[in-house]
Amino acid sequence: MRKLLLASLALLVTAASASAAEVVVYSARIEQLIKPLFDAYTKETGVQVKFVTDKEGPLMARLKAEGKNTPADLLITVDAGNLWQASDQGLLRPVESRILEANIPAHLRDPGKEWFGLSVRARTLVYNKNRVKAGELSTYEDLASPKWKDRLCLRTSKKVYNQSLVAMLIGEHGEPKTETMVRGWVDNLATAPFPDDTKALEAVAAGLCDVTLVNTYYFGRLMQKKPNLPLAIFWPNQNTGAGNAGVHVNVSGAGVTRYAKHPEEAIRLLEWLSSDKAQNLYADMNMEYPANPAIKPDPLVASWGSFKPNLINVAEAGRLQVRAVKLMDRAGYK
Ligand code: FE
Repeated sequence: MRKLLLASLALLVTAASASAAEVVVYSARIEQLIKPLFDAYTKETGVQVKFVTDKEGPLMARLKAEGKNTPADLLITVDAGNLWQASDQGLLRPVESRILEANIPAHLRDPGKEWFGLSVRARTLVYNKNRVKAGELSTYEDLASPKWKDRLCLRTSKKVYNQSLVAMLIGEHGEPKTETMVRGWVDNLATAPFPDDTKALEAVAAGLCDVTLVNTYYFGRLMQKKPNLPLAIFWPNQNTGAGNAGVHVNVSGAGVTRYAKHPEEAIRLLEWLSSDKAQNLYADMNMEYPANPAIKPDPLVASWGSFKPNLINVAEAGRLQVRAVKLMDRAGYK
Protein backbone atom coordinates (compact mmCIF):
# COMPACT_ATOMS: atom_id res chain seq x y z
CA MET A 1 0.00 0.00 0.00
CA ARG A 2 2.74 2.35 1.03
CA LYS A 3 4.63 1.46 -2.15
CA LEU A 4 1.58 2.20 -4.23
CA LEU A 5 1.12 5.56 -2.53
CA LEU A 6 4.72 6.50 -3.25
CA ALA A 7 4.34 5.45 -6.84
CA SER A 8 1.25 7.55 -7.31
CA LEU A 9 2.94 10.46 -5.59
CA ALA A 10 5.82 10.16 -8.04
CA LEU A 11 3.29 10.18 -10.88
CA LEU A 12 1.67 13.28 -9.47
CA VAL A 13 5.01 15.06 -9.25
CA THR A 14 5.84 14.12 -12.85
CA ALA A 15 2.45 15.34 -14.00
CA ALA A 16 2.85 18.58 -12.09
CA SER A 17 6.28 19.30 -13.52
CA ALA A 18 5.09 18.40 -17.00
CA SER A 19 2.16 20.79 -16.79
CA ALA A 20 4.50 23.45 -15.40
CA ALA A 21 6.75 23.17 -18.46
CA GLU A 22 7.73 26.66 -19.45
CA VAL A 23 10.00 28.65 -21.66
CA VAL A 24 11.22 32.19 -21.00
CA VAL A 25 11.60 34.63 -23.90
CA TYR A 26 13.36 37.99 -24.10
CA SER A 27 11.72 39.78 -27.00
CA ALA A 28 12.65 42.98 -28.80
CA ARG A 29 9.38 42.58 -30.65
CA ILE A 30 6.41 44.17 -28.95
CA GLU A 31 3.87 42.22 -26.89
CA GLN A 32 1.13 42.89 -29.45
CA LEU A 33 3.06 40.86 -32.04
CA ILE A 34 4.29 37.98 -29.91
CA LYS A 35 1.58 37.35 -27.32
CA PRO A 36 -0.99 35.97 -29.79
CA LEU A 37 1.66 33.49 -30.96
CA PHE A 38 2.63 32.42 -27.48
CA ASP A 39 -1.02 32.04 -26.52
CA ALA A 40 -1.55 29.77 -29.52
CA TYR A 41 1.55 27.78 -28.59
CA THR A 42 0.40 27.31 -24.98
CA LYS A 43 -3.04 26.25 -26.17
CA GLU A 44 -1.51 23.66 -28.47
CA THR A 45 1.23 22.30 -26.21
CA GLY A 46 0.39 23.26 -22.64
CA VAL A 47 3.82 24.87 -22.34
CA GLN A 48 3.72 28.25 -20.63
CA VAL A 49 5.62 31.06 -22.34
CA LYS A 50 6.86 33.81 -20.06
CA PHE A 51 8.25 36.86 -21.78
CA VAL A 52 9.90 40.21 -21.24
CA THR A 53 9.85 42.86 -23.98
CA ASP A 54 12.33 45.72 -24.36
CA LYS A 55 14.58 47.26 -27.02
CA GLU A 56 17.28 44.92 -28.34
CA GLY A 57 20.14 46.93 -26.73
CA PRO A 58 18.89 46.65 -23.14
CA LEU A 59 17.81 43.02 -23.64
CA MET A 60 21.26 42.00 -24.87
CA ALA A 61 22.95 43.98 -22.09
CA ARG A 62 20.70 42.20 -19.61
CA LEU A 63 21.51 38.76 -21.05
CA LYS A 64 25.19 39.59 -20.85
CA ALA A 65 24.98 40.88 -17.26
CA GLU A 66 22.91 37.90 -16.10
CA GLY A 67 25.35 35.44 -17.65
CA LYS A 68 24.76 31.92 -16.38
CA ASN A 69 21.95 33.12 -14.12
CA THR A 70 19.73 34.39 -16.90
CA PRO A 71 16.18 33.08 -16.83
CA ALA A 72 15.94 33.65 -20.61
CA ASP A 73 15.79 30.66 -22.93
CA LEU A 74 15.09 32.38 -26.23
CA LEU A 75 16.00 35.81 -27.64
CA ILE A 76 13.73 37.30 -30.30
CA THR A 77 14.77 40.45 -32.15
CA VAL A 78 14.69 42.15 -35.52
CA ASP A 79 17.49 42.56 -38.04
CA ALA A 80 20.23 40.07 -38.79
CA GLY A 81 22.70 42.76 -37.68
CA ASN A 82 21.31 42.51 -34.14
CA LEU A 83 21.10 38.70 -34.17
CA TRP A 84 24.70 38.55 -35.37
CA GLN A 85 25.74 40.86 -32.51
CA ALA A 86 24.02 38.62 -29.97
CA SER A 87 25.88 35.64 -31.38
CA ASP A 88 29.16 37.56 -31.53
CA GLN A 89 28.77 38.49 -27.85
CA GLY A 90 28.40 34.82 -26.94
CA LEU A 91 24.76 35.16 -25.88
CA LEU A 92 23.41 32.34 -28.06
CA ARG A 93 24.07 28.63 -28.61
CA PRO A 94 24.06 26.56 -31.79
CA VAL A 95 20.91 24.55 -32.43
CA GLU A 96 20.79 21.36 -34.47
CA SER A 97 17.31 21.05 -35.89
CA ARG A 98 16.19 19.35 -39.08
CA ILE A 99 12.86 21.12 -38.74
CA LEU A 100 14.41 24.59 -38.70
CA GLU A 101 16.75 23.73 -41.54
CA ALA A 102 13.85 22.45 -43.61
CA ASN A 103 11.56 25.39 -42.85
CA ILE A 104 13.97 28.32 -43.06
CA PRO A 105 16.01 28.91 -46.24
CA ALA A 106 19.80 28.86 -45.73
CA HIS A 107 20.32 32.55 -46.55
CA LEU A 108 17.89 33.55 -43.78
CA ARG A 109 19.72 31.80 -40.93
CA ASP A 110 23.10 31.88 -39.22
CA PRO A 111 25.63 29.55 -40.91
CA GLY A 112 26.80 28.87 -37.32
CA LYS A 113 23.21 27.78 -36.42
CA GLU A 114 22.87 30.23 -33.52
CA TRP A 115 19.89 32.13 -34.93
CA PHE A 116 17.12 31.63 -37.46
CA GLY A 117 15.05 34.12 -39.44
CA LEU A 118 11.34 33.92 -38.68
CA SER A 119 9.99 36.70 -40.88
CA VAL A 120 11.39 38.53 -43.87
CA ARG A 121 11.40 42.27 -44.39
CA ALA A 122 12.10 43.60 -47.88
CA ARG A 123 13.99 46.92 -48.08
CA THR A 124 12.87 48.31 -51.38
CA LEU A 125 12.07 51.49 -53.32
CA VAL A 126 8.89 53.51 -52.89
CA TYR A 127 8.17 56.34 -55.30
CA ASN A 128 5.69 59.15 -55.89
CA LYS A 129 3.39 58.04 -58.71
CA ASN A 130 2.71 61.63 -59.79
CA ARG A 131 6.38 62.43 -60.26
CA VAL A 132 8.02 59.17 -61.33
CA LYS A 133 7.14 56.46 -63.81
CA ALA A 134 8.00 52.94 -62.66
CA GLY A 135 10.04 52.52 -65.86
CA GLU A 136 12.46 55.22 -64.67
CA LEU A 137 13.48 53.09 -61.72
CA SER A 138 15.75 50.07 -61.98
CA THR A 139 18.29 49.31 -59.24
CA TYR A 140 19.67 50.44 -55.86
CA GLU A 141 22.81 51.45 -57.78
CA ASP A 142 20.82 53.62 -60.18
CA LEU A 143 19.64 55.82 -57.27
CA ALA A 144 23.25 57.13 -57.30
CA SER A 145 22.97 58.37 -60.89
CA PRO A 146 22.71 62.14 -61.54
CA LYS A 147 19.16 61.78 -62.85
CA TRP A 148 18.00 61.47 -59.23
CA LYS A 149 19.77 64.68 -58.11
CA ASP A 150 17.74 66.34 -55.33
CA ARG A 151 15.03 63.67 -55.72
CA LEU A 152 16.05 61.07 -53.12
CA CYS A 153 15.01 60.78 -49.46
CA LEU A 154 16.69 58.38 -47.05
CA ARG A 155 16.34 57.33 -43.44
CA THR A 156 19.34 58.04 -41.21
CA SER A 157 22.44 55.82 -41.46
CA LYS A 158 22.26 55.45 -37.66
CA LYS A 159 19.46 52.91 -38.00
CA VAL A 160 20.57 49.29 -38.13
CA TYR A 161 18.32 48.69 -41.17
CA ASN A 162 20.51 50.92 -43.34
CA GLN A 163 23.72 49.64 -41.76
CA SER A 164 22.61 46.12 -42.65
CA LEU A 165 21.62 47.11 -46.18
CA VAL A 166 25.00 48.76 -46.83
CA ALA A 167 26.82 45.83 -45.18
CA MET A 168 25.05 43.41 -47.53
CA LEU A 169 25.82 45.67 -50.50
CA ILE A 170 29.50 45.50 -49.46
CA GLY A 171 29.17 41.72 -49.32
CA GLU A 172 27.75 41.74 -52.82
CA HIS A 173 29.84 44.40 -54.60
CA GLY A 174 32.89 45.01 -52.41
CA GLU A 175 33.73 48.22 -50.62
CA PRO A 176 34.89 50.56 -53.44
CA LYS A 177 31.80 50.06 -55.59
CA THR A 178 29.49 50.33 -52.58
CA GLU A 179 31.17 53.54 -51.44
CA THR A 180 30.72 55.08 -54.88
CA MET A 181 27.05 54.12 -54.73
CA VAL A 182 26.48 55.54 -51.25
CA ARG A 183 28.30 58.78 -52.17
CA GLY A 184 25.95 59.04 -55.15
CA TRP A 185 22.92 58.58 -52.89
CA VAL A 186 24.18 61.32 -50.58
CA ASP A 187 24.74 63.64 -53.57
CA ASN A 188 21.16 63.02 -54.65
CA LEU A 189 19.47 63.72 -51.31
CA ALA A 190 16.68 66.29 -51.50
CA THR A 191 16.87 66.89 -47.77
CA ALA A 192 18.63 65.63 -44.61
CA PRO A 193 18.01 61.96 -43.70
CA PHE A 194 14.87 61.16 -41.70
CA PRO A 195 14.66 59.50 -38.28
CA ASP A 196 12.36 56.74 -39.53
CA ASP A 197 11.00 55.05 -42.64
CA THR A 198 7.51 56.53 -42.22
CA LYS A 199 8.83 60.11 -42.26
CA ALA A 200 10.78 59.32 -45.44
CA LEU A 201 7.59 57.94 -47.03
CA GLU A 202 5.59 60.99 -45.99
CA ALA A 203 8.24 63.24 -47.56
CA VAL A 204 7.89 61.35 -50.85
CA ALA A 205 4.10 61.59 -50.64
CA ALA A 206 4.34 65.34 -49.99
CA GLY A 207 6.57 65.83 -53.05
CA LEU A 208 9.63 66.85 -51.04
CA CYS A 209 11.46 64.10 -52.92
CA ASP A 210 10.48 61.46 -55.47
CA VAL A 211 11.82 58.15 -54.20
CA THR A 212 13.01 56.51 -51.00
CA LEU A 213 14.28 53.22 -49.62
CA VAL A 214 12.16 51.56 -46.89
CA ASN A 215 10.92 48.30 -45.42
CA THR A 216 7.62 47.45 -47.07
CA TYR A 217 5.62 47.06 -43.85
CA TYR A 218 6.02 50.80 -43.21
CA PHE A 219 4.50 51.40 -46.65
CA GLY A 220 1.69 48.98 -45.73
CA ARG A 221 0.94 50.68 -42.43
CA LEU A 222 0.96 54.18 -43.91
CA MET A 223 -1.24 53.20 -46.87
CA GLN A 224 -3.75 51.55 -44.53
CA LYS A 225 -4.09 54.85 -42.70
CA LYS A 226 -3.96 57.06 -45.81
CA PRO A 227 -4.90 54.95 -48.83
CA ASN A 228 -4.96 57.92 -51.20
CA LEU A 229 -1.29 58.82 -50.88
CA PRO A 230 0.38 58.81 -54.35
CA LEU A 231 2.90 56.13 -53.34
CA ALA A 232 3.85 52.85 -54.99
CA ILE A 233 6.36 50.08 -54.39
CA PHE A 234 9.10 49.26 -56.88
CA TRP A 235 11.13 46.04 -56.76
CA PRO A 236 14.72 46.84 -57.87
CA ASN A 237 17.42 44.61 -59.37
CA GLN A 238 14.90 42.18 -60.84
CA ASN A 239 16.30 41.72 -64.35
CA THR A 240 18.54 38.85 -65.28
CA GLY A 241 22.25 39.37 -65.71
CA ALA A 242 24.98 41.11 -63.75
CA GLY A 243 23.92 43.55 -61.03
CA ASN A 244 20.45 42.09 -60.76
CA ALA A 245 20.76 39.93 -57.67
CA GLY A 246 17.33 40.91 -56.37
CA VAL A 247 15.65 42.87 -53.59
CA HIS A 248 17.55 43.19 -50.34
CA VAL A 249 15.85 41.34 -47.54
CA ASN A 250 16.50 41.13 -43.83
CA VAL A 251 14.84 39.13 -41.07
CA SER A 252 13.38 39.18 -37.65
CA GLY A 253 14.51 36.05 -35.91
CA ALA A 254 15.45 34.23 -32.76
CA GLY A 255 18.12 32.15 -31.09
CA VAL A 256 18.35 29.93 -28.02
CA THR A 257 20.37 31.61 -25.29
CA ARG A 258 23.73 30.19 -24.27
CA TYR A 259 22.62 29.62 -20.67
CA ALA A 260 19.02 28.57 -21.33
CA LYS A 261 17.48 26.65 -18.44
CA HIS A 262 14.92 25.07 -20.77
CA PRO A 263 16.91 24.55 -23.97
CA GLU A 264 14.73 21.71 -25.28
CA GLU A 265 11.55 23.73 -24.73
CA ALA A 266 13.21 26.73 -26.39
CA ILE A 267 14.12 24.67 -29.47
CA ARG A 268 10.56 23.27 -29.64
CA LEU A 269 9.12 26.80 -29.52
CA LEU A 270 11.58 28.02 -32.16
CA GLU A 271 10.66 25.09 -34.40
CA TRP A 272 6.98 25.80 -33.89
CA LEU A 273 7.55 29.46 -34.81
CA SER A 274 8.93 28.26 -38.16
CA SER A 275 5.86 26.08 -38.80
CA ASP A 276 2.83 26.83 -40.99
CA LYS A 277 0.44 28.10 -38.37
CA ALA A 278 2.90 30.39 -36.59
CA GLN A 279 4.42 31.65 -39.83
CA ASN A 280 1.04 32.84 -41.07
CA LEU A 281 0.24 34.61 -37.83
CA TYR A 282 3.65 36.12 -37.27
CA ALA A 283 4.28 37.59 -40.72
CA ASP A 284 0.71 38.83 -41.24
CA MET A 285 0.53 40.76 -37.99
CA ASN A 286 3.36 43.08 -39.03
CA MET A 287 2.79 42.92 -42.81
CA GLU A 288 6.08 41.08 -43.23
CA TYR A 289 6.83 38.04 -45.39
CA PRO A 290 6.90 34.54 -43.92
CA ALA A 291 10.47 33.19 -43.74
CA ASN A 292 9.14 29.72 -44.54
CA PRO A 293 8.72 29.75 -48.34
CA ALA A 294 5.84 27.26 -48.16
CA ILE A 295 3.66 29.93 -46.55
CA LYS A 296 1.99 32.66 -48.59
CA PRO A 297 2.09 36.28 -47.43
CA ASP A 298 -1.04 38.07 -46.29
CA PRO A 299 -3.28 39.06 -49.27
CA LEU A 300 -2.56 42.77 -48.76
CA VAL A 301 1.19 42.12 -48.78
CA ALA A 302 0.82 39.79 -51.77
CA SER A 303 -0.99 42.60 -53.63
CA TRP A 304 2.30 44.50 -53.82
CA GLY A 305 3.53 41.86 -56.25
CA SER A 306 6.15 39.17 -55.97
CA PHE A 307 9.86 39.77 -56.27
CA LYS A 308 13.16 38.01 -56.62
CA PRO A 309 15.01 38.35 -53.30
CA ASN A 310 18.76 38.74 -53.06
CA LEU A 311 20.06 35.41 -51.73
CA ILE A 312 23.14 36.79 -49.99
CA ASN A 313 23.23 35.39 -46.44
CA VAL A 314 21.73 37.93 -44.04
CA ALA A 315 24.57 37.18 -41.58
CA GLU A 316 26.67 39.47 -43.82
CA ALA A 317 24.70 42.32 -42.25
CA GLY A 318 26.48 41.62 -38.96
CA ARG A 319 29.84 40.51 -40.25
CA LEU A 320 30.28 43.67 -42.33
CA GLN A 321 28.41 46.11 -40.07
CA VAL A 322 31.48 47.94 -38.75
CA ARG A 323 32.79 48.42 -42.29
CA ALA A 324 29.36 49.64 -43.41
CA VAL A 325 29.16 52.22 -40.62
CA LYS A 326 32.64 53.54 -41.45
CA LEU A 327 31.85 53.62 -45.16
CA MET A 328 28.64 55.60 -44.63
CA ASP A 329 30.55 58.01 -42.41
CA ARG A 330 33.25 58.54 -45.09
CA ALA A 331 30.55 59.04 -47.70
CA GLY A 332 28.92 61.78 -45.61
CA TYR A 333 25.71 59.77 -45.08
CA LYS A 334 24.41 61.12 -41.77
FE1 FE B 1 10.90 48.38 -38.32
